[in-house]
Amino acid sequence: MNLAQFPRRRYTSYKTPIEFLPNLTKVMDGPNIYIKRDDLLGLTAGGNKTRKLEFLMADALQQGADTILTCGAVQSNHCRLTLAAAVKEGLKCQLILEERVPGSYHPTASGNNYLFNILGVEAIKVVKGGSDMTAELNQLAEELKSQGRKPYVVPGGGSNTIGALGYVACAEEIMDQMFDMGINFNHIITPSGSAGTHAGLINGLVGNNLHIPLTGISVSRNKQLQTEVVYNLAVKLGEKLGTKNSVKYEDIIVYDDYVGAGYSLPTQSMVDAVQLLARTEAILVDPVYTGKAMAGMLDLIKKGQFKKGENILFVHTGGSPALFAYTDVTLNGLK
Ligand SMILES: *Cc1c(COP(=O)(O)O)cnc(C)c1O
Repeated sequence: MNLAQFPRRRYTSYKTPIEFLPNLTKVMDGPNIYIKRDDLLGLTAGGNKTRKLEFLMADALQQGADTILTCGAVQSNHCRLTLAAAVKEGLKCQLILEERVPGSYHPTASGNNYLFNILGVEAIKVVKGGSDMTAELNQLAEELKSQGRKPYVVPGGGSNTIGALGYVACAEEIMDQMFDMGINFNHIITPSGSAGTHAGLINGLVGNNLHIPLTGISVSRNKQLQTEVVYNLAVKLGEKLGTKNSVKYEDIIVYDDYVGAGYSLPTQSMVDAVQLLARTEAILVDPVYTGKAMAGMLDLIKKGQFKKGENILFVHTGGSPALFAYTDVTLNGLK
């Protein structure tokens, strides 16, 4: 696929490493476990939004934007990285935070919230859970336009067809690394949220005729809804790319068994996964996305879904700053 046809900024000057996890592999006594270290991407503390922002910010700059607007949850990694990209490009950035869990916004909270402030966010507006975030963003954009400014709206999670190009690029990077390292992966596992990562990866894999099954672990929606969200974005992305090999509904694999009580709400299996990765491989997975996705992968290994002798790749999409807003539960578990 020719991704060079799309304007792109660069925020990471290397391919993120694919590492073998010998200690975790030994503990699980199942497949050989590898990890794609997208937590080491560029911009402030890395993570998957960096890849999406390479394409989104190029579009914003092409449109002459002076202010970037986006939205997310109160501990949003996406908001942190969008703000970081805006800082890099010399643009202003305003955030709208959705208080999905009532009472969860604290202006002096640690984690990503602290980083919003140290990175010099221009303004933060907090709205109630369930608000129409697109309408909120568009309204803010209109206000700024009436003041003569040039806002650019990045959708939640950066998950439109422009942002998802970042994960088409990631699939191609993985393909190169497989060839370089001489490893054939039997399965790839990713967290699945606003779906740009999942939809981008599946387009990159299928579009390049690389039929490695991709398993998405949902962090909020149920299986059917999440499958539809991923599929719809994947189809639109396929049209943008003009791929002959298009993604089919059956290509979208989603598990919704690891969400727990809801988005961003801790589960004991997440806590166990955070501690296990830290204590076997010194890798930090996060409480909201990669901790739950890792819990899913470990459970699927135990259930024999991924077998001894196979090579599996977990896509580490980042998020470790959020741990600092979840210190008690990740250390002491659910009481
Ligand atoms: C946003 C995010 C995800 C989910 O990616 P989507 O493209 O929104 O599905 C996973 N992990 C982390 C750390 C994130 O911040």
